[in-house]
Amino acid sequence: MSNPSTLVITTAAEMSTFSRQKKVAGETVGFVPTMGALHEGHMALVRESRKNNDVTVVSVFVNPTQFNEPSDLDSYPRTFEADLKLLSEVGADVMFFPNALEIYPTNETKMYEMDGLDLMMEGPNRPGHFNGVVQVVTRLFDIVIPDSAYFGEKDFQQLTIVKYMSDKLGYATKIVGCPTKREVSGLAMSSRNVRLSESGKERAIAISRSLKEIGSHLAEQDSALDLVLYDARKSLSESEGLELEYLELVDPVTLAQATNDSLQIQACVAAWIEGVRLIDNMQVK
Ligand code: AMP
Repeated sequence: MSNPSTLVITTAAEMSTFSRQKKVAGETVGFVPTMGALHEGHMALVRESRKNNDVTVVSVFVNPTQFNEPSDLDSYPRTFEADLKLLSEVGADVMFFPNALEIYPTNETKMYEMDGLDLMMEGPNRPGHFNGVVQVVTRLFDIVIPDSAYFGEKDFQQLTIVKYMSDKLGYATKIVGCPTKREVSGLAMSSRNVRLSESGKERAIAISRSLKEIGSHLAEQDSALDLVLYDARKSLSESEGLELEYLELVDPVTLAQATNDSLQIQACVAAWIEGVRLIDNMQVK
């Protein structure tokens, strides 16, 4: 079977017209926002969208407003040809590939009140990051007008904030969270993994291993939350070549610190390996 070809759209006006025409024709539009350097994790979101919608649009836009380190923005991988090939193979209908002027014609920074969801974990370490995420997601929603939008649980705080903010700002788009895709080793797939050496990837396995251990330790000794967290932080901090930024146990909806009474707990972690910042999370209760 020949690969269906993916249409590349570069302007906001054309993208909007395309979506409107589909919707007028009674078709549903599923949307997967990405920053490119696509991998199997992104493909899982595209497949989920294709399963549930008539048309699937994937945006590839390295959003400058969500980077707080210019060097991180500069070194972010950009792989247009490979991305388009993958999108054609998986059967995405449209790759929306705008430049910054299409997304931010006025250069205006909008400020969003996230009611505290941006204050913990990623928040303090990446000032302005979630404001940039909400700014780009709302702008993309305004252009693409999706019925449903697909986000990875890999970026757990982002998913929680997007769900909350799209509701708060009155978007009709249904936000769908999709499970994290992992390498066989357990390492969460990420566009940033290409910057790790083989030994860096080996070291990074400690992250998902420690999240799994938290789950099994909590199941064994249900009440000793503080102790389990202390031990996990200690073992990750002592892991060779890894610098722990945070490890937190939180409520999955409010992101408040979990307690022994929490019914559900998400373990969320950020760590540095070979100058690459990696994040991961798992439901541990
Ligand atoms: P990014 O291109 O890194 O901004 O990611 C675009 C979307 O893909 C976000 O919703 C991410 O959460 C999601 N994503 C990234 N990595 C994975 C993964 N390993 N599994 C599932 N979803 C992912």
